[in-house]
Amino acid sequence: MNFSDSEIVNSIMTDQGHKPAPSPEQADIIFVNTCSIRDNAERKVWDRLKYFRSLRTKKHQDKVVGVLGCMAERIREKFLDEHKLADLVVGPDAYRDIPNLLAQVDDGRKAVNVILSLEETYADIAPVRTTGNGSTAFVSIMRGCDNMCSFCVVPFTRGRERSRSAESIIQEIQVLSDSGYKEVTVLGQNVNSYSDNGVSFAELMYRASQVNPNMRIRFSTSHPKDFPDELLTVIQKQPNICNYIHIPAQSGNSEVLKRMRRPYTREEYLSLIDRMRELIPGVALSTDIITGFCGETEEQHADTLSLMDKVKYDLAYMFAYSERERTLAHRKYEDDVPEEVKKRRLSEIIDLQMKNQEELNREEVGKVHLVLVEGTSKRDENQVNGRTDTNKMVVFNREEYAPGDYVAVRITDYTSATLKGEALYKSSIPEFALDKQPAMA
Ligand code: SAH
Ligand code: SF4
Repeated sequence: MNFSDSEIVNSIMTDQGHKPAPSPEQADIIFVNTCSIRDNAERKVWDRLKYFRSLRTKKHQDKVVGVLGCMAERIREKFLDEHKLADLVVGPDAYRDIPNLLAQVDDGRKAVNVILSLEETYADIAPVRTTGNGSTAFVSIMRGCDNMCSFCVVPFTRGRERSRSAESIIQEIQVLSDSGYKEVTVLGQNVNSYSDNGVSFAELMYRASQVNPNMRIRFSTSHPKDFPDELLTVIQKQPNICNYIHIPAQSGNSEVLKRMRRPYTREEYLSLIDRMRELIPGVALSTDIITGFCGETEEQHADTLSLMDKVKYDLAYMFAYSERERTLAHRKYEDDVPEEVKKRRLSEIIDLQMKNQEELNREEVGKVHLVLVEGTSKRDENQVNGRTDTNKMVVFNREEYAPGDYVAVRITDYTSATLKGEALYKSSIPEFALDKQPAMA
């Protein structure tokens, strides 16, 4: 989400005649787009800000430092008054005001705008794409969140949930397709609650899939509370909507889920997973898990381990609980699981996930996947990497392949994190879907 927001800010700055600098050291203006989700995310920002402040030397007196995003919303003018680490502070709904705020800094005035909006979606701003090698791109379809999970600061820093118009989303995807992009990841805190004048998320995904049959569509994140069958059917039917769903469980214990204000039980979550696998055979699944939430007992932690073992996720993002001010958990519950216990539980779930991932990846050997090439492998410049429809990273020999190519690849080897393969032939989503049909029949 922050990558996507930075591309919007880039567009606003480019319109003002600014250009990206080669490094922070050489920049006249430095923006830090921040995250408040956990304390360690914020700690990294404090360290960066101190460093950026130190760049304001005698020679570079007028270097401007701005804090953008969720931490700007949380800490506000204290960045200027108390900490003296920034010249301007801009919340997630105030990016359009950046040119005015920069002018205020020039005039020596306080430059802070952290007003949250009920309408802002930046729908009309064409992001300047800086990520994804010209083949993959993010498209934000909604902002904010109304879910108020008790551990989460997002509703406070990003404000109320609002959906961007379907028309502007489809138009942006069309522009990306015309510019040669091959994959779009549609973003929102809970995409299932997307709604624009009667257009549901399932309908939006269907329309997105029709823009270009050779362009992949991914989406993130889905909340387990309201996943409709209609969406599962669209994913199953449209070959270019990826068979991969990020469906965060957070915990495998119903009591903990209740305290987290996640309105589903362990059983409901597991039956949703069964339904996904029933309607989309071979669908890949990923999750987010929090360990050591307020009051979590060893038995409740064991329930999370057993849920993970039942589901066998292809990927998981795992975190130790980090108390956030203003949240319900902060007001109502005690952060009573000792840090070392949280860490130990976290390493137990990570170990289990790595073991499960390795087993799942072993089963991939011999299968043929359509891989969208993204770039050069970090380890070996004679190899390229890219992802399968199911979001698994595959590395194979470069040969004549370049970013943006779809290649049919046979998997030959694996680790818990990556697959290795041999390229068979260049293909496309429609061709590959046809090739696979006899095998599926
Ligand atoms: N909207 C998404 C989550 C966005 S935040 C969803 O509901 O799935 C990404 C992840 O950060 C969450 O899923 C959660 O696992 C984690 N997270 C959020 N608040 C946290 C906290 N206070 N401590 C630890 N992890 C947290
Ligand atoms: Fe946070 Fe819950 Fe909203 Fe996700 S759904 S952003 S976890 S409040």
